Amino acid sequence: MAEKMLIDGEWVHAARGATQQVVSPMDGRTIAEVPKGDRDDMRRAIDAARRAFDVGPWPRLPPRARAEVYLKAAKIFGDRAAQIAELESRNQGKTIKQAADADIPFSIDNLVFYAGACRTLDAKSPAEFTGDGTTIFRREPVGVVGSITPWNYPIMMAVWKLGPALVTGNTVILKPASWTPLTSLELGKIFQEAGLPSGVLNIVTGPGEVVGDEMTRNAKVDLISLTGDTATGRKVMEAASGSVKRLQLELGGKAPFVVFADADLAAAVEGAMVGGFVNGGQDCTAATRLILHKEVKARFLKHLVERIATMRLGDPLSRTTDVGPMVHRSHQKKVLDLVETGVREGAKLATPGQAAAEKLPQGAYVAPTVLNDVAPDMAVAQQEIFGPVLDVLEFETFDEALEIANGVPYGLAGSLWTKDVRTAIRGANALRAGDVWINDHLPLGSETPHGGFKQSGFGKDLGTDSLNDYTVVKNIYIDLTGQARKGWHYTVYGDPA
Ligand code: NAD
Repeated sequence: MAEKMLIDGEWVHAARGATQQVVSPMDGRTIAEVPKGDRDDMRRAIDAARRAFDVGPWPRLPPRARAEVYLKAAKIFGDRAAQIAELESRNQGKTIKQAADADIPFSIDNLVFYAGACRTLDAKSPAEFTGDGTTIFRREPVGVVGSITPWNYPIMMAVWKLGPALVTGNTVILKPASWTPLTSLELGKIFQEAGLPSGVLNIVTGPGEVVGDEMTRNAKVDLISLTGDTATGRKVMEAASGSVKRLQLELGGKAPFVVFADADLAAAVEGAMVGGFVNGGQDCTAATRLILHKEVKARFLKHLVERIATMRLGDPLSRTTDVGPMVHRSHQKKVLDLVETGVREGAKLATPGQAAAEKLPQGAYVAPTVLNDVAPDMAVAQQEIFGPVLDVLEFETFDEALEIANGVPYGLAGSLWTKDVRTAIRGANALRAGDVWINDHLPLGSETPHGGFKQSGFGKDLGTDSLNDYTVVKNIYIDLTGQARKGWHYTVYGDPA
């Protein structure tokens, strides 16, 4: 499959003809070729987006007309959902049941939500704040948006970015992750068929350090929205500082999962299974640190290990697979190296390590793994592992639990497991994270704002809050006095009348 990228309404090869291979996480075989864009390709896309914003129809359409394009796109997306889910599973390695029953329907719902939400956007009421004139507030699109997405939820992250960006009248250049560009290109086709004007959405494939870097440095881009690693976020901040761009950064996570002594343990174990192993653990909100009360730790761990033994690793395209391969061999190695680091640091394997994965004939698999006796300062407790690996830590008091939970550079998400309402609310207030779940882990809806504290970044995906990130408020003042010399002018020169 030889794919092209989308620039100014045309599906094109890279100007210099370079291509990059997209490989299967199952066997490393090439499943597609996409253009390997360079700085000139990105500049062409930026120029197209700039023109479409500065003089094109899209930002000037009434919200209703933009919403109509979204509703058409949602319909086309729905018609192709099965095919796109399969492509996502083949390219990323995620299970087909997650792609088809979670990621894709959620993405479609996001589009429907933004079609409605953009029509509710308003600003403050006009008023005479100075007495001499009326101030009108206008909410406007920011301009040209550069959206950079990661490989873990390729199409869903693209929709989380495009959803609020395009509907508010911005124009966009999307740069998908190099390992997983295929479904983002499909999204481009969907929007084009739905009637999005040329240049409003451009999709450039190519290396992050080249095309992503060009996007973040180029002064014609007004806002960069990145979902990715915190280290990439730092680079983007530096590169974007030259032109003082707006930034929206959705970065890494190391979510705590705190189980108090009074928790419903059966529910908490189920919560850890889904929270920890969603998307093979390649999830920024994954429940990676199980912080367990001393009294319940042994019982919790016993049940957890029993449940893990029932998990089915295998072909992601099979409906009965629970954990597919990691996205890429090199990522599998990174995850396994971190597990080894944990063991060297003194953590104990509570599961049989890679045994289940080694039975499989091929694929970048990591067997669901639990590391017990993890201390809060170990590398495995501080760094993102981004695989199906759970750390187990222990606490005695509420304060100790919260200190451990907050004791990482990240602050994206976390959950608290307790039947006591005071513990739940005190804990939720004290947790420095953007998403806090009580007695569950993961649920998000199109309406719920998602975004981090601390080094997990800033700004929000989802919900109406994200519309604020992609719009800017202008205040327009209209004099009502009609006088040449106003009462306040003497404060600058001359005397009062
Ligand atoms: P990554 O940072 O390696 O890559 C993300 C994107 O940035 C890719 O498209 C990449 O090509 C691009 N990129 C790389 N270097 C760049 C540069 N110098 N300039 C501009 N762009 C550049 O992340 P990843 O490995 O693809 O994804 C996993 C990471 O994403 C994890 O850290 C995870 O926690 C995070 N994530 C966060 C959220 C969230 O909502 N906060 C959601 C999903 C994933």
